[in-house]
Amino acid sequence: MRKIRRLFIGVLYCMICLAVTGCGETEDNRLTSREVTLTDVEETTETQSSDGLMEVHFIDVGQGDATLIKCGEASMLIDAGDDSKGTMLQNYLMKQGITRLDYLVLTHPDSDHIGGAPVMITKFDIDKVFVSNYEKDNKTYLKLIQALDNKNISYTTPAVGSVYDLGNASFTILGPCASYSDPNNASVALLLQNGKNRFLFTGDAEENAECDMMQTGIDISADVYQAGHHGSKSSSSESFMEKVSPSYAVISCAEGNSYGHPHAQTLNTFRSMGIQVFRTDEQGSIVAESDGTAITWNCAPSQTWKAGEPTQNSAQQVRKEEQPEEQQKQSENDAAEQQKQSENDAAEQQKQSENDQSGQQQIQSDSGKAAQQTAVEVHITKTGEKYHREGCQYLKKSDILITLDEAKRMGYEPCSKCNPPR
Ligand SMILES: [Zn+2]
Ligand SMILES: [Zn+2]
Repeated sequence: MRKIRRLFIGVLYCMICLAVTGCGETEDNRLTSREVTLTDVEETTETQSSDGLMEVHFIDVGQGDATLIKCGEASMLIDAGDDSKGTMLQNYLMKQGITRLDYLVLTHPDSDHIGGAPVMITKFDIDKVFVSNYEKDNKTYLKLIQALDNKNISYTTPAVGSVYDLGNASFTILGPCASYSDPNNASVALLLQNGKNRFLFTGDAEENAECDMMQTGIDISADVYQAGHHGSKSSSSESFMEKVSPSYAVISCAEGNSYGHPHAQTLNTFRSMGIQVFRTDEQGSIVAESDGTAITWNCAPSQTWKAGEPTQNSAQQVRKEEQPEEQQKQSENDAAEQQKQSENDAAEQQKQSENDQSGQQQIQSDSGKAAQQTAVEVHITKTGEKYHREGCQYLKKSDILITLDEAKRMGYEPCSKCNPPR
């Protein structure tokens, strides 16, 4: 059945290509005709076969991105969190039955996206590696290139408009559309389609790059949008959001992150558009399942609309992801000093936003609540099946800190020796 359907799609695709675009077709035209074909076929298929299922795991890697897509036997990982998350990510993928990856997409060379990649490259066989056209000259980036070289894996920046198959699904490259002076804008962006369900990933692309993506003429409308740059106000510009017009947004960030992600402005945009929001800082790893027509989630959308709180004065704010490692330490020290200042700022902002209230409820940050909501943390090991309390005797060889929710979700059982929280 699957073969026949594929063949049908193929034949129909060729016919439409020939009829509509002829031989001199552009990449964009080809893309459009292909999408039309796929949608038509899905509509005429009475029952969805189970191999049309696709899972999208927005994995909780703290401040960073890592998204696993499983579609039948095929799999893709978009970003790999920072270097402290490599082993945790490896465990997550192994629990998901992943032994190899068809694609590893590293959106851009900031450490919160590529730090965990060397572990992935070392532990899994990978068919294709896609990287940004922005190269960095720092330790994290060099480690990545070394890991790729060690396994003799070549890597390329995919061309905008190219389409790749992922099992029954496919994805279209939307960015980077140019060479940018900012690594965030140089993010590899892609639109993933399974049947009628569409997921958009733009890495940390900011407004400039969003504009360029819109200029390509490729349809960027999507059901699910992974909020650009962890919900920063530098991304998810209003005109871009109007084009994407998603039903759902997923924000991947850490609770209490120093950038104040997600920003209130972004949450306000989402809220005013009626977009339902999922957040890894509140909900841990988030899993969406697509059967080609409907999308279901492993948890209910977040209702807090709580903005992050920057711990750095916005005027002096320098993005840590762009700094060399030595400067990061310094800026972490600075951050403590700036905390006081930003608390004053926050109080002022709060007053301001109370004055601003114009019908629509403004989103406020609330540091008091954030402190109370700190997630319970437990410890796991590289190879064990149990989770532990801090200092448990089984943690001697390896000791990985994760949240209790995450441990449960990944199938870990409480250790009977140390009796950790349940
Ligand atoms: Zn980032
Ligand atoms: Zn970045």
